[in-house]
Amino acid sequence: MLAWIGAGIAFLLAVTPMWNPMFGWFFPITGFFVLAAITLGSSASKIAELESLHRRDSDLAKRQLAEQQSAVDSLADGLDVAIFICDGRANIQYANRRASEMFRFERPIGRSVLAVTLSYDLEQLVLETAQASEARDAELSFSYPEERVGLVRAWTADESGQRVFVSVVEISDLRRLERVRTDFVSNVSHELRTPMTLIRAMAETLIDEPKATKEVRDRYLKKIIDEIDRLSTISNDLLILSAAESSPVRKSPCDIGNIVSDVVQQLTAKAKSKGLTLEYSGPSSFVIEANAAQLTQVVLNLVENGLNYTVEGSVSVRLEAVGDDVVLLVADTGIGIASEHLPRIFERFYRVDRARSRSSGGTGLGLSIVKHIVEVHGGNVQVESTLNRGTEFRATIPRGDVSAIDQNEAEAAQGQPPLEGLS
Ligand code: ADP
Repeated sequence: MLAWIGAGIAFLLAVTPMWNPMFGWFFPITGFFVLAAITLGSSASKIAELESLHRRDSDLAKRQLAEQQSAVDSLADGLDVAIFICDGRANIQYANRRASEMFRFERPIGRSVLAVTLSYDLEQLVLETAQASEARDAELSFSYPEERVGLVRAWTADESGQRVFVSVVEISDLRRLERVRTDFVSNVSHELRTPMTLIRAMAETLIDEPKATKEVRDRYLKKIIDEIDRLSTISNDLLILSAAESSPVRKSPCDIGNIVSDVVQQLTAKAKSKGLTLEYSGPSSFVIEANAAQLTQVVLNLVENGLNYTVEGSVSVRLEAVGDDVVLLVADTGIGIASEHLPRIFERFYRVDRARSRSSGGTGLGLSIVKHIVEVHGGNVQVESTLNRGTEFRATIPRGDVSAIDQNEAEAAQGQPPLEGLS
């Protein structure tokens, strides 16, 4: 703008001699200087303007860079993958939140990968990657701060190998599940093979001894029937377990008070035959939202175990409402469980005393069924035991959508059909 005004004034001064020859060349020269001064002034203000623009741009660029950096940090910290950036000598330049959680360190920057993770294999992987400038993959086991298995990938950004990126995806659960699955298959075959071998041996003896007395034959035939019953019990338990695992639990309002009373009644004869007292204290009716058949299985397994592992005394069953949960307590005065076995008794086929479990018709699957069913109902099972004193199992199950249950009960009382979606 200033330049245009200057140009206008200079033009007027320049053309002045044309209509006033008195001033001669004075005005054109003055005009030139005025024009030059104004142009310089305008350039200076332009430069200042440009400088302020540049400052604004660079502030903006800095702000954008900081925003980008914090976005990248949040992204890296939000990943469920441990990330390290190391130099070519395996010293850490960056580590995300998951990495610090996984290896429990606080200030990793500048420290070596070996010092932070205590993994010689990881350090070697970083050094090899830096040297070869080539991506490397490995499955590594870490022992610090706890046993873990991770899928590790290391790669470089360029040929120099001065920067090595490392990602560690933890696969401990996957490997553990694989192990549980393989153990399960081998346990199942072992459990099935034992009775089948016995059946075969006894059948062969009967064939080889055609002159055996009726008494001997009957004894062998009874053993064969017992082993076949055992096979059916195992396959039955396996089916219950697989049904509980494979489908989402179908819940409907059911009366756990009624279920417990029924099971106690059903097992009273067994308790009496062993000289034990079996008692239930709790409400005769307590409606919760659950799968009635599965709940029956839970109560049956816990009470049967109480009776099987108690020599004298009692098995008592209680039902309590605690907040939004219902708590089923099954306590016995039996043989108890040594503390070293407690963490394992819910594993499939785990038995403290194999022979004892076998003689009472156990399969080693009862408690894993209990745990699975209670957990798919959103609850948990706890156990407390003292050797030779007794054991108490405590299954906590959420009552479920109580308002829907109350509504349902009210409708049922009026003889109307249950609420849709609950059955
Ligand atoms: P099992 O069919 O052998 O009873 P479970 O899965 O029900 O299998 O239980 C696993 C093991 O836990 C049992 O073999 C037994 O050693 C122990 N156990 C379960 N319940 C009790 C109990 N009430 N008292 C003592 N030991 C128990």
